[in-house]
Amino acid sequence: RSMSSVTIPPPACILRPLEVPYRYLFGPGPSNVPPRVLASGSRPIIGHLHPEMYEIMNDIKKGIHYAFQTENNMTIAMSGSGHAAMECAVFNTVEPGESVLIAINGIWGERVAEIAERMGANVHKLVKAPGGHFTNIEIEKVGKHKPVLFFLAHGESSAGLCQPVDGIGDICRKHNCLFLVDTVASLGAAPIFMDKQNIDILYTGSQKALNAPPGTAPISFNDRACHKMFNRKTKPVSYLFDMTHLSNYWGCDGKAVRAYHHTGPVSGFFALRESLAILAEKGLEESWRKHKEVAAYLYRGLEDLGLELFIPDKDLRLPSVTTISIPEGYDWREMLVYIMKHHQMEMTGGLGPSIGMVMRIGLMGYNCEKTNADKALHALADALKNCKKSKA
Ligand code: PMP
Repeated sequence: RSMSSVTIPPPACILRPLEVPYRYLFGPGPSNVPPRVLASGSRPIIGHLHPEMYEIMNDIKKGIHYAFQTENNMTIAMSGSGHAAMECAVFNTVEPGESVLIAINGIWGERVAEIAERMGANVHKLVKAPGGHFTNIEIEKVGKHKPVLFFLAHGESSAGLCQPVDGIGDICRKHNCLFLVDTVASLGAAPIFMDKQNIDILYTGSQKALNAPPGTAPISFNDRACHKMFNRKTKPVSYLFDMTHLSNYWGCDGKAVRAYHHTGPVSGFFALRESLAILAEKGLEESWRKHKEVAAYLYRGLEDLGLELFIPDKDLRLPSVTTISIPEGYDWREMLVYIMKHHQMEMTGGLGPSIGMVMRIGLMGYNCEKTNADKALHALADALKNCKKSKA
């Protein structure tokens, strides 16, 4: 056979039409995407460096300002999922050998600690069991490690915890440390005020309460964070996530020309813009109120089913992702498979350290309705009836 002949045939599977089932995405994300956002993502592609695209990116920036309650100029959306924002935050603000302090009460602190370890930071950990939260007194003590960065998850989605953040930004300032907060699972569902709460770096994801498709991740840096990241001795380990380039791509560096750095996810940005527009139309206060109301309704229904909420203090529960303890006499995997099979509904188990401890129900943004809580409760009641272990 000649070198130029095709020897690998087209695969039969790819020649079949694409099939995507309809699912109720009542897990911790992605959530269902409203038709309006889906439609915006299917607009024709334009060039990522066309002036119309710059305008759309500028709109996204303004939308993030509102959602984060910040006026930070250095505000962009990452081309990538929430992890891209996690890596961007750490890679740009920390240099190898510098100390960081990571609050770990679930998987997200563990992940950020690993990201920081990989880039050569000196990682200190403040660890609690999943479901635990950190008091300001505990956080105050850890200045002794002289960290340049302190990480906290506002919405700890693996445990269903909403960590209070008031006052922590001031503690970090006192210790000359940047305050990094993860709101991937909480933005739009629970109040956060980047500027007023003195948060130096804040990020979120597109696919949770914002209801955009996965793949973009808003992030913002204040002046303190910019001062640190733009006065480094070493270059960040990632070229793709280097804020020197990304700030130019997003028109944040004051230069007249935006140079090519990478090709942004054009459709993803259309959809993100639309989801930020929906949040702006609805209003943050209304979105927070709605999540709280529907979550409270869900808690009552879960308790009526005899289920136990994993976070006892209702003020510390994350309104977007509710965790329940695994009921005795049941295999959580079997319940989840049953619910998927019979109700076309995703709920999930724990993640990282909370695996085997919890099941998670997410009602986020567009999905956050009492009618959906009823659907979730109905599916759970059905699973409780049909998955009981005879031997347990
Ligand atoms: N942080 C939190 C709190 C999350 O819930 C998630 C997603 N489950 C992430 C970070 C990571 O986001 P992604 O999966 O989009 O990378």
